[in-house]
Amino acid sequence: MIQKPKGTYDVYGTYGEKIQYLEKLLSALMEKYHYEFVRTPIFEASSLFHRGVGETTDIVSKETYDFKDRGDRDMTLRPEGTAGVVRSFIENKMYTRPSMPVKAWYYGPMFRYERPQAGRYREFYQFGVEVFGSTSPMVDAEVISIPVTLFRLLGLKGIQVKINSLGDKESRAAYREALLTHFEPHLNELCHDCQERYSKNPLRILDCKVDKELECMKNAPKLSDYLSEQSKQHFESLKQYLDDLGIDYIVDEHLVRGLDYYTETVFEVEADIKDFGSNNVLCAGGRYNHLVENLDGPSTPGVGFALGYERILNAIEAEGIELENENQVDAYIIPMDESLRKEAFRLTQTLRMNGFTIETDYLNRNLKGNFKQADRLGAKFIVLIGEDEQKEHIYTIKNNDTKEEYKIDQDYIVMFLDEKLEETELEDNDHCCHGGHECHCHEGGCKHHE
Ligand code: ATP
Ligand code: MG
Repeated sequence: MIQKPKGTYDVYGTYGEKIQYLEKLLSALMEKYHYEFVRTPIFEASSLFHRGVGETTDIVSKETYDFKDRGDRDMTLRPEGTAGVVRSFIENKMYTRPSMPVKAWYYGPMFRYERPQAGRYREFYQFGVEVFGSTSPMVDAEVISIPVTLFRLLGLKGIQVKINSLGDKESRAAYREALLTHFEPHLNELCHDCQERYSKNPLRILDCKVDKELECMKNAPKLSDYLSEQSKQHFESLKQYLDDLGIDYIVDEHLVRGLDYYTETVFEVEADIKDFGSNNVLCAGGRYNHLVENLDGPSTPGVGFALGYERILNAIEAEGIELENENQVDAYIIPMDESLRKEAFRLTQTLRMNGFTIETDYLNRNLKGNFKQADRLGAKFIVLIGEDEQKEHIYTIKNNDTKEEYKIDQDYIVMFLDEKLEETELEDNDHCCHGGHECHCHEGGCKHHE
């Protein structure tokens, strides 16, 4: 039997429902923030990632899926979303829009050749945003507020926002020099990876998980001492905006992020949930003020983040949050006699076109079997079409929960279902919220989040 490739997974059943729930929520959220949807190719010229993400990053040096196409071109399955969106921003001349800034969002599969483990796959899904054309720290704060709001809407409680500033080009360069001087006498204490980082990307030594406890790590020069006045101001004002939005954060001076392109603000949102495991960074991002020009566009500042679906869904599970199954069957249609199957099929379609979620019998089940099937599917109502019903131009409708039975004129079924479903919805939600996109009662008191 052929099996799926290592590090990939199939989506089906309740996992599929959860993903659909998440994607609907993402899309509703992005509508409110007024971001535009973008989609870029899953493969791009390899050079885009080499230049865009950076040669010295783990992603490019160890994790890409590279291939030659039949025209002998070097192609790469995208390992992240930013480089493609920036390319699209430049290629489609979005920078000429008078309505700047451009605020874009995307979601889709990303590919990295990594060692598969919990929360780490070779094909995984990201949702992300990129904002081009504003250097205002207000935009940094808005971007950080997106995952925070998402997690609140999902009812996730154990999250922690970490922020740091890498400063501008000049601050970074000065700090790089200071790090080189500091670590030089300690090179032989550092792990093999860090010895390599020393020559290629010394900032990354700071977020090494292996060398974390070394004395030379603890007393390394602080980035904050090397920030220019302007960078300091940017960071202070970001913190002010976050305070204004009521977003809690901690400043983590060792947060540098793996990508080469960041300037000024970098941030992560971590799951702070017991026994969650080490892959607990749910979302990461930052500002990249030179990436557009590095990829041959006009100098344009940018800021963005990406978040992994799998880790979000793990966090939701770890906190025992039930995502509401939105795809509930409103009614199950049963023909009581074979001769009425066509009529049942027609009614199925009519009700669907009137906005209801409808199921019916496809396997010629008998009446008892059909009632069972309606239960399995969680149908709220059962509509029976029998000969008597046809003669009298009525339907027999059962509330599958209370078992109440109604006989209603066929012409009024849409109105009837509308009213009854609204009643049951109000009862379900206890007049509190709809547990979904508009839910603001995550602090408690809401049935959905109990
Ligand atoms: P990590 O340090 O965990 O490898 P990263 O720095 O490589 O993360 P980014 O490139 O910033 O991660 O990607 C942003 C988000 O995408 C991560 O916070 C995580 O949620 C998710 N992510 C990254 N790599 C994977 C993967 N291999 N499988 C699943 N999710 C991933
Ligand atoms: Mg990684």
